[in-house]
Amino acid sequence: VAMLRTGSRRLGCLRAALQSLAQTDHRSITFCIDPSLGLNEEQKGFQKVAFDFAAREMAPNMAEWDQKELFPVDVMRKAAQLGFGGIYVRTDVGGSGLSRLDTSVIFEALATGCTSTTAYISIHNMCAWMIDSFGNEEQRHKFCPPLCTMEKFASYCLTEPGSGSDAASLLTSAKRQGDHYILNGSKAFISGGGESDIYVVMCRTGGSGPKGISCIVVEKGTPGLSFGKKEKKVSISSAIMRSSYGEPDKVVADNLGLMEGFLGQIRAFGGNSIYIKSLQLGTIHAFYNKDFTSVRMQQQFGKKAQRSQYLQFQLADMATKLVASRLMIRTAAVALQEEREDAVALCSMAKLFVTEECFTICNQALQMHGGYGYLKDYAVQQYMRDSRVHQILEGSNEVMRMLISRSLLQD
Ligand SMILES: Cc1cc2nc3c(=O)[nH]c(=O)nc-3n(C[C@H](O)[C@H](O)[C@H](O)COP(=O)(O)OP(=O)(O)OC[C@H]3O[C@@H](n4cnc5c(N)ncnc54)[C@H](O)[C@@H]3O)c2cc1C
Repeated sequence: VAMLRTGSRRLGCLRAALQSLAQTDHRSITFCIDPSLGLNEEQKGFQKVAFDFAAREMAPNMAEWDQKELFPVDVMRKAAQLGFGGIYVRTDVGGSGLSRLDTSVIFEALATGCTSTTAYISIHNMCAWMIDSFGNEEQRHKFCPPLCTMEKFASYCLTEPGSGSDAASLLTSAKRQGDHYILNGSKAFISGGGESDIYVVMCRTGGSGPKGISCIVVEKGTPGLSFGKKEKKVSISSAIMRSSYGEPDKVVADNLGLMEGFLGQIRAFGGNSIYIKSLQLGTIHAFYNKDFTSVRMQQQFGKKAQRSQYLQFQLADMATKLVASRLMIRTAAVALQEEREDAVALCSMAKLFVTEECFTICNQALQMHGGYGYLKDYAVQQYMRDSRVHQILEGSNEVMRMLISRSLLQD
């Protein structure tokens, strides 16, 4: 009952915050690309809270977080106070209990402040959701509340040095010994690695192939668990990344496997990949707000811009791709929420389309800025860098193509 109250309070905070913001409008977005189009009043409210938070707490810091590679713990904890630490986690363990569509709207808005930090927050949310969905009651009540407040941070560990796209071939093993598991193996590319407190680790508890894979929660500080160097990345630098290593036969997890097989994993993947796409939208939106209206752009093109058909056509194409991307994400989010059979295909299509088109938009935008676009004084270069990686992570776009063609052949 206490947890239910905490969860409801969190949701209450979010709803109260949005009421107080109801009279303000932080955006000046042309009607046809307005991200609140088609949303109900409550969703518009969540969106406003997230936009406001992004503008106030994230956007002023995003360049510094990027350049100094900072993991902004305090700001993320403030985001959690608004209910963004466990957005689609159930309320009885401290989550906000919102839908997939609500979540995508919130992530899109947060990404306008910092795509990189929102990418990490989306992974953290996915981990909390996995424990909430697949954990037993003891695990849910132990791990979810501190994740929802972001008192603790979580990371997702699937990729290994020898298995990326072909995740089903992963080698990290977990062997049962009495009431605990002995883990052997190493994981690569862990967003939040070394910073997070809780690691949701995909490992082999059964035979070869996807059916032999389970998921185990490993806490930081577990004897035998260590982390590699902080990786130097091209972008999303505030989402610190490290590999993890297990000393042979030394890493003991006293938790049970959370998931029975790889199918659950696919659901998790599909789920988070739609948020990754939402980040793309947010990125572009921030750009529409800031850079298209920037003094520099106006000086450069001035009234000529209104006459330049080339420029106008480019803007028209970019806006069309943006709106199409948003529609695809929201359609996929609803399919996922309803656990429909077409959810995996729709999520994959949306990830493929959105991450490619939105990167192209950012790249075009940089081009339109000329040499200035390449300077770190202008945010457009960061949007371009931060958007590139989404074609690779959460299942590369080649993997998305495979999932789509598999669905088509099944039909
Ligand atoms: C910034 C960043 C953050 C990340 N965060 C996480 C994280 O938090 N947790 C986590 O577990 N992982 C994470 N990853 C890892 C990411 O999911 C993998 O990099 C991705 O799945 C690709 O795997 P790989 O790098 O091993 O490339 P590979 O699988 O070796 O693929 C190399 C290339 O070949 C293509 N390819 C592979 N197989 C085929 C095929 N059958 N047909 C056609 N093309 C194919 C791929 O699409 C890719 O272009 C992150 C990666 C990055 C860059």
